[in-house]
Amino acid sequence: MFHIIVNLALILTFIIPMSAKAEWFFFSDTAMTTAIELEMWSDDAAVAKLISTKVFAEFKRIDQSMSRYQSTSELSKVNRMAALEPVRVSGELLRLIQRSTELSTLSSGAFDITFASLGYLYDFRAAKQPSQKWIRKQLPSVNYQNIIVDEKAKTIAFKQEGTLLDLGGIAKGYTVDLGVAILKDYGISHARLSAGGDMRMLGDKKGKPWMIGIKDPRKEAQHAVVLPLSSVAISTSGDYERFFIDEVGERVHHIISPKTGRPAKGIQSVSVIGPNAITTDGLSTAIFVLGVEQGLSLIESLPDVDVIIIDAERQMHFSKGLMMPVN
Ligand code: ADP
Ligand code: MG
Repeated sequence: MFHIIVNLALILTFIIPMSAKAEWFFFSDTAMTTAIELEMWSDDAAVAKLISTKVFAEFKRIDQSMSRYQSTSELSKVNRMAALEPVRVSGELLRLIQRSTELSTLSSGAFDITFASLGYLYDFRAAKQPSQKWIRKQLPSVNYQNIIVDEKAKTIAFKQEGTLLDLGGIAKGYTVDLGVAILKDYGISHARLSAGGDMRMLGDKKGKPWMIGIKDPRKEAQHAVVLPLSSVAISTSGDYERFFIDEVGERVHHIISPKTGRPAKGIQSVSVIGPNAITTDGLSTAIFVLGVEQGLSLIESLPDVDVIIIDAERQMHFSKGLMMPVN
């Protein structure tokens, strides 16, 4: 009897404090000019804090190596040199550029990191955009096929002078996935990590789904729809995050059609749901450029992804996976 009591007491001291202490922890930071939010269920405040430090450090690391705006970044070196000679790069940058060109092929060139060859002429804060003349001049440099990736030599070269790369359409999603890998390494099984419009959920919200709102593109702080989601990523690309209205009343925003060199028309927002954030981030930008019809057909041709599109008339379009089954 005594033994049983002792054993029971031992078991209780091991079990009860652990589960009683577990709680939600919330951390936030700013990186890549975006708000980063991290929420996790943990039984150890110190470990939760450590994880958050490591996750936020990843955003800073990727920004330092892959930002077009930092002159010391690896990407800036490529942009400066790759038209002159092949530039040796890290395996990480090489893979991300490769992944980007794969998405270009998949989206018939709608997603194209060489959009920056003329994209750099847009300044949304200063309300500046290139003239048609400049666009015509730079447009031949916008073509992902101008990027030569040498996997063996680990180099990047450009076929055409004037080519510039910008990973803004995919880097945040990529880093969200890196953050989620850290969470998993520490044994966390309920968490949510977001960087602006890119978010990934690890598990559910302890027995309930996460309720994720998609912003109304024209009514700040209002949701167009709220979705119950678990263990997936969701990325939203919108024409309302970085934009200005020009002198003729046109909305000039940051998602550029590689065909015209102008902001893509026909859509206000695209949210893609999929297994990881690099996929959803890249696809949301691609579909914004492709438009409703081609965007929906691309999504339907791929496994494990869904989309919600709000078009220029504020009509909502859902992929088949999100529609109620009709009997
Ligand atoms: P956010 O940056 O708000 O998360 P997106 O994921 O839609 O939004 O990415 C938009 C960014 O993608 C732009 O700011 C720019 O850096 C980049 N971009 C714009 N047009 C294209 C394009 N056609 N292909 C690839 N990247 C693009
Ligand atoms: Mg994107």
